[in-house]
Formats: sequence, structure tokens, C-alpha cells
Amino acid sequence: MASVKCPKCGAAVAIDAGTKFTKCTFCGSEIYIDRSGAGFYYIIPFAVRENDAIGIFRRWAAGPSRVKDLDRKAEIASVKSAYFPVYMFKRKINGREQVFVEPAASTTLPGLHQLKIPAGDLKIFDATFDKGGAELINPDIEMFSYLNNLPGERVEQALVFFPIWKIDYIFEGKKYNVVIDGSSGEVFSSIFPSRSSIGYMLVAIVGFIAFVGEGLLATFNLSIALMLMGITLIGVFLAALVVARRM
Ligand SMILES: [Zn+2]
Repeated sequence: MASVKCPKCGAAVAIDAGTKFTKCTFCGSEIYIDRSGAGFYYIIPFAVRENDAIGIFRRWAAGPSRVKDLDRKAEIASVKSAYFPVYMFKRKINGREQVFVEPAASTTLPGLHQLKIPAGDLKIFDATFDKGGAELINPDIEMFSYLNNLPGERVEQALVFFPIWKIDYIFEGKKYNVVIDGSSGEVFSSIFPSRSSIGYMLVAIVGFIAFVGEGLLATFNLSIALMLMGITLIGVFLAALVVARRM
């Protein structure tokens, strides 16, 4: 039977071949075993509670690029908390430390390639950590697969379980989802009901055609053409205002 050295207490911990996760039999720390060696795995506690997550979602839904009234019309279908696994690579590049974060599980959820690990919030994931009912998503990507593409020298590498809120919502019969970073409150969304730009496009096209016509007219009668241009300008402005209010 093989063994790894516990990164916390230094004890030799026996492992079965093919095992990826084990617990130190001496100090109880959870240990992650990769082909590149053993390391801790860390967990980041939730700083954003469920009600905060819903509030963050509502504010995001009221944002300027979302369809009008999404904050009121979106019907929340489910709110779930999970710990998503990422690899944290600390590397030394030209004498300076830099942190790289890569997903450790394949996912279609948005934003999980952009997670940022908050300084000082890493907790060693041991028996005392309370997951509070959040789902622990298992890694299915090898840490090894990232190592060849990283610059600099290895300082530290670890598996980190990152807190996320997954909110599913329904808008006009279609289901969408957002991911909220459970530590920073940042919202990630790839597809959402967005504000249509067709109204503005129509106003711009009609305004453009009117100006071209008025420009031609100006060679025959400048004062009438100028007057019409003024009317067109006011018309375009009012039409844009209507589009902004209604759409
Ligand atoms: Zn130990």
C-alpha cells in the first residue's frame, strides 16, 4: 500500500492506488492526492447568505442590459448552494507570486472560469467544517492536465472548494440560470433575457432616411430643408424616449 505525507502534521497516511481523497488518520485533515503530489484541499466559507443571494439577483435583474421589468417578472424556480471545485496554482514568475485558478469539474454553468480566490479566506477542509447543506461537487478534471500550460515555478497548488449560489429562474416560460459567487457576490450569467435593440435600430434608420431626403431638398430650398431637419431631430429624440420607456 502506498502512502502520502500529510501536509499538516507530516504523518504518513496509507492510501489505496487510485484514491484521490483521503483523510489524515492522525490529525483529520482532508488530503487531496494528485499525480503531482499530495496537498490540502481548502474550502471557502459562504459570505453571501441565501437572502442576500436573492437580493443580489433582483438587483442584477433590474440592470440596464436586462429586459425591462425582469426583476419583477422573473420567477425564481430554485436557489441552491454548492461548493464548486477549482485548482489554485501559486506560481513564481520573475520573482513575483501569481495565482491562477482553473475549474476542476466540467460544467456548463457560467463564470466558473473567472473565479477569484479571496485573500485570507481559505480554510483547511477538515472534519470541523460545516458545509451547511451545500452540495459538494466532485472534481472530474485532473490537476495534472493544467500543469504543463502554467508559467513560472510551482509555489503551491491545491484544490479549493468555492462557494456558489445557483439560481434558476423562469421568464416568459423559458428557464435561465445565474451563478452568484458566494464569497464576493459577483453575478455570472451567459444567457439572459436582454433588452431588445430593434426599436432603437428602427428609429435610427427612419431618422437617417429623413436626413438624406432633407439633405437633397436643401440644394433646392435651404430654409424648408433646415426646418424639416429640426422636426426630424425632435421626432428622433421623442421616438427614442418612447422606445426607452416601453421596451
Ligand atoms: Zn495529518
